[in-house]
Amino acid sequence: MPAATNPMRVDHAVEVLISQTQIATRIRSLAAEIASQYPHAGDGMTIVSVLAGSIIFLGDLVRSLPMRLRIGLVTVSSYAGAATTPMPPKLTWSSLANVAGRDVLIVDDILDTGGTLRLVQAAVRDAGARSVRTTVLLRKPGKAPASVTADFVGFDIDDVFVVGYGLDYDGLYRNLPYIGVLPPREREGGAT
Ligand code: 5GP
Ligand code: MG
Repeated sequence: MPAATNPMRVDHAVEVLISQTQIATRIRSLAAEIASQYPHAGDGMTIVSVLAGSIIFLGDLVRSLPMRLRIGLVTVSSYAGAATTPMPPKLTWSSLANVAGRDVLIVDDILDTGGTLRLVQAAVRDAGARSVRTTVLLRKPGKAPASVTADFVGFDIDDVFVVGYGLDYDGLYRNLPYIGVLPPREREGGAT
């Protein structure tokens, strides 16, 4: 049954913005671009990936990087515990990665206002990384301040709320194999 007519399907209301094939093709070229800029020998590179939105991108990207690398995971939270008022975002290491003296590539799903990446980039620099570069699958141009940039970008998109391929709405849709747009009528709670 077509996706648009079966409300039992998780993606019944999602419009495809970037297809599975387009993502796969772009990730291969992005990986080639990244690989050309990092050492393949010695201790290789260290990836620091931002949970949870980057998990699918991370999985596909690293399998296209033919080099020695280690993976560390971080979480960025905007709320502390059960607090209901917004707190300054906070970074916690979910799996320890030794980034001191290392060539680090930060991996995130999307560069929007830049708050998340500003925090992660500063933390990795403060931890003594030798070099810090960033890749994002998606970027909404013109939203982040000029001081927060990504070195390798999969796709520039319009300022719309996207889901799929790791990106969620209210915890759902991360498993869609494509990037889609969720119409505003489908969004009643808050994004996570
Ligand atoms: P920023 O800190 O750059 O404003 O936003 C980064 C985070 O906000 C992303 O890592 C992602 O979790 C979330 N985000 C921003 N835009 C979108 C969007 O269009 N869809 C979804 N699902 N999450 C988004
Ligand atoms: Mg995120």
